[in-house]
Amino acid sequence: MSIRFYNTLSRSIEEFIPLKKGEASLYTCGPTVYNYPHIGNLRTFIFEDLLHRWLSCRGYKVKRVMNLTDVDDKTIKNSIQQKMALADYTQIYKKAFFEDIEGLFFLKADFYPAATDYIKEMIEIIQGLIKKGFAYESNDGVYFKVSAFADYGKLAHIDQETLLAGASGRLSTDEYSKEQVSDFALWKKWTAEDGAVKWDSPFGEGRPGWHIECSAMSMKLLGETLDIHCGGVDNIFPHHENEIAQSEAYTGKPFVHYWLHAVHLVVDGEKMAKSKGNFHTLRDLTTQGYTPRAVRYALITTHYRKPLNFSFDLLKQADSSLKRIDDFVFALKNVKNEGSKNEEFSGFLVKSQSKFESSLDEDLNISEAMAALFELISHYYENQKNYSRQNAVEILSFLEKADTALGFIHKEVKEELSDEEKALMEERNLAKKNKDFKKSDEIRDILLKKGIELRDTKEGLVWKRL
Ligand code: AMP
Ligand code: ZN
Repeated sequence: MSIRFYNTLSRSIEEFIPLKKGEASLYTCGPTVYNYPHIGNLRTFIFEDLLHRWLSCRGYKVKRVMNLTDVDDKTIKNSIQQKMALADYTQIYKKAFFEDIEGLFFLKADFYPAATDYIKEMIEIIQGLIKKGFAYESNDGVYFKVSAFADYGKLAHIDQETLLAGASGRLSTDEYSKEQVSDFALWKKWTAEDGAVKWDSPFGEGRPGWHIECSAMSMKLLGETLDIHCGGVDNIFPHHENEIAQSEAYTGKPFVHYWLHAVHLVVDGEKMAKSKGNFHTLRDLTTQGYTPRAVRYALITTHYRKPLNFSFDLLKQADSSLKRIDDFVFALKNVKNEGSKNEEFSGFLVKSQSKFESSLDEDLNISEAMAALFELISHYYENQKNYSRQNAVEILSFLEKADTALGFIHKEVKEELSDEEKALMEERNLAKKNKDFKKSDEIRDILLKKGIELRDTKEGLVWKRL
């Protein structure tokens, strides 16, 4: 078994060989907490959750950091507009972010560092870069000197001509395009536009640039070289290119071995973005009656390097796919045939499991993994009457395992009746046996009010949580 990933650095699929055997250090650029995350952001975060889960499923001890960008151009601008202190303003969206990822069944990262808690570390790196000749102070801040770092452009594949054209310029904004390559801000000296946001530093009062934040937090928590670093494709330039330049110039060591980037969630061909106004938040969608589980399903089941077009049909399809899975689980739990195991069916399951796993090993190919799951479902319905309870139990156990990677089947697989519900069920069985239909109907209605539907089938009484 080996896992392979598409590495943006080499633009090719590579076998994952971690720095330390059996371990994986993972840094995922987190949300800028200036607003609620939109489901485009969540697509990238869900891909990172799948990556985290799959590494864990394959036995790696994952050490994961997901940062919170709580100081940058956008957070400052919005907090001032709202006449709020930066920390109070960002706190609202930190909380919202955690609510969203919990609702979407994310695995927890080991650390969620906030940039404002790592200003000291950022200053240390900036001082080191000045000392080594990679950075210089100007009247409005400290800048990274792009022309001093020979490898600049290796992640975004920027040609040297573009680089030279911009090498003499300076840009103080956090975000800019490839065509604007120029020296970028590590430290921004205080201006009136920053209001009360400022920290003391050897370069005067001010605040860090966005890119230095992730270099400081990742190296502090995961070491100077890390295995994997992720984000959305828009992070490749300038954010991750600049992180490489700052970190490698400072340490003289490779910063990251594997760079993985999720392609955008789009709406009518355009990137979903707050600035374009074409976005939905998880909150909007749940208010409209869609479940977080359906949102998770819709966002996770397209391969992360393929564009995904958002539509309400996508959510409706997610709902019906989940219903097919739930019905399958329901049917498996109610297989009553106590006969011996059908070996041919067990063999089919082994093949499905192996396809599921090898697909995820291959750059997290979830589309193929889901195909294996749905083939198994079809096989079951084609041969339903010959499936024994033992076959069903084997499949349920596979589903439970598969769900440690997928995170959207769990409720239905693990669900059991409470003691009270079991007692009611037994009471109803007894009433039916005694032909006390009034009582049996009464108990059925009580259970229905508790969200449990009963169905009398050829195989006996079955139940389903609604
Ligand atoms: P931000 O909160 O703007 O820092 O973005 C958080 C993450 O969401 C980053 O990794 C971005 O690359 C990613 N992202 C932003 N827009 C989209 C989108 N439309 N589709 C997928 N990922 C996105
Ligand atoms: Zn980052």
